[in-house]
Amino acid sequence: MLVSQILNSKPAQGVETVAPDTRIFEAAEVLSARKIGSLVVSKDGDTPLGILSERDIVRELGRDGAVCLNGKVSDYMTAKVVTCTLDQSADEVLETMTNGRFRHIPVMDGDKMVGLISIGDVVKARLSELAMERDALEGMIMGN
Ligand code: AMP
Repeated sequence: MLVSQILNSKPAQGVETVAPDTRIFEAAEVLSARKIGSLVVSKDGDTPLGILSERDIVRELGRDGAVCLNGKVSDYMTAKVVTCTLDQSADEVLETMTNGRFRHIPVMDGDKMVGLISIGDVVKARLSELAMERDALEGMIMGN
């Protein structure tokens, strides 16, 4: 299974982004309203400049307290974003996320960001692939 197939199977294709000078409390509002775990930081929606996860906010809240809520996203984001491409396999991306200990990865088509997949999207896609393989094997054994 390829990243492009996982992306196509998602109901919402777009990527939720925030500008670097957005305040952390505003980013938290977006995460809460959209029921998502991370935001890609971008000025134009095409180029990822960083990624801000709910974990980044919780870590800073634990370290510095509520004062971080007025800080800028650019001060708390991870600036070195790991991305993947449409033609990579689900297994490859799962390995990247597991080794990097993160659950979100923006998908690039050349220089343009075209989607974002979470570890949950990959696991869901792999499970449905495994179910199809099982059905096919059952069919072969039963002679259907
Ligand atoms: P997550 O598990 O995705 O909520 O994120 C855990 C940590 O990894 C946070 O510090 C994020 O900012 C960072 N992170 C999330 N996704 C990525 C990514 N694709 N590349 C680099 N860092 C990431």
